[in-house]
Amino acid sequence: MNLIDAPGTSEDDWRAWPGLGRLPELDLTSWRNAVVVAAHPDDEVLGVGGLMAILAARGVRLRVIAVTDGEASHPGQDVTTRRIAETTAALEHIGHCEVVRLRLPDTGVRDDELAPLLRDLVYGFDVCLAPWEDDVHADHEAAGRAALACDIPVLRFPIWTWHWARPADPRLPWGQAVRVPLPSETAARKRAAISCFTSQFEGPDPILPPEIVEHFTRPEEVLFR
Ligand SMILES: [Zn+2]
Repeated sequence: MNLIDAPGTSEDDWRAWPGLGRLPELDLTSWRNAVVVAAHPDDEVLGVGGLMAILAARGVRLRVIAVTDGEASHPGQDVTTRRIAETTAALEHIGHCEVVRLRLPDTGVRDDELAPLLRDLVYGFDVCLAPWEDDVHADHEAAGRAALACDIPVLRFPIWTWHWARPADPRLPWGQAVRVPLPSETAARKRAAISCFTSQFEGPDPILPPEIVEHFTRPEEVLFR
């Protein structure tokens, strides 16, 4: 069984660990704009939806690069239109941002294909937020590597990591980790945004079961710099 399908760490265990609270706070005061790379519709909200809401409220220009449309989440069904609509609804809770769709194949993202496209789209931005390149999900890893291949500072956000890793896990680069505390209003916006991704919660074997979603309702986000 792979790390994503295997039983993982509960959010209660993460919240009980004092290590997260000891991480230094991310200083974003100088950011004028930021670009966010999402391998699938929902990665941007799960990983940095709170940070995006904070930036949007400050008038920071945001561009989301949707690498795939998430069409592989329900084999045999055409969910592309639905997943795009879910993202649109979710981002309305987050704040103003431009979305650029690349329509690369879901579950088939290649960093050598993505990096040249990203280079043009991140040009002129202060910072890029991208999935962590060791998140275990292949598309997340490819998106992270592609971002790192661009000439821009990259902060990487974990997603599946919160499931398969454990507190103080030596596989994570804690020395590079920073935290973004989310005011309660921001955390509420993020929860409302997450609730828009209904296709991911349905069926007997949902892609995002409640115990996974719980990781993204904590009052802070963590990124690696
Ligand atoms: Zn994803």
